[in-house]
Amino acid sequence: MPEPDVPTLRTGVLALQGDVREHVRALTSLGLDPVRVRRPEELAACDTLVLPGGESTTIIRLLRTFDLLEPLRARIAGGLPVLGTCAGMILLADRVLDGAPGQETVGGLDVTVRRNAFGRQVDSFEGPVEVSGLDEPVHGVFIRAPWVEETGADVEVLARAGGRVVAVRQGALMATSFHPEVGDDVRVHRLFVDHAAAHLPTTYDIG
Ligand code: GLN
Repeated sequence: MPEPDVPTLRTGVLALQGDVREHVRALTSLGLDPVRVRRPEELAACDTLVLPGGESTTIIRLLRTFDLLEPLRARIAGGLPVLGTCAGMILLADRVLDGAPGQETVGGLDVTVRRNAFGRQVDSFEGPVEVSGLDEPVHGVFIRAPWVEETGADVEVLARAGGRVVAVRQGALMATSFHPEVGDDVRVHRLFVDHAAAHLPTTYDIG
């Protein structure tokens, strides 16, 4: 099978709230031309998507307002590769602990995350994190970050910090508690894009 041509991947960054610009910059520096996704047509045109950090309760509300929630769920069910960072991890999780009352998620990732988990000890911290698939640790930036408290059978743990699971992958979905888009190190984005390119669904409904 020929190597997937990463630069031709149509990559989107959900651009409703959060650190959109940083993800756009990281993907651009990998040679991609990311689209800011705010409308269903923009989502439909993406082969991969990043859900940025920000505030998960705000983003889920805006996903509904912008008529993106059900289309996004449908695309994820169809195999859309998605990277969720921090709030994006919460959005991808099937189950949330310490969420806002009635907090919904997009779902798809068979994990239970605890929202603001590290935040109850200390709001933000930074440090080296070893990520499976990368030779050298990344500099993990955690800002009121969730951790993964339970993982389903198909979930691969990619990283831990302080004994807690902070990066996971399941099929085409990947999520980190920390913010790989902060700074100039784009290896986590590269890991996502390479994996995504190798796991694109052969057909999907772009309607
Ligand atoms: N605590 C935020 C939330 O619940 C996530 C923080 C972040 O993305 N930096 O969405």
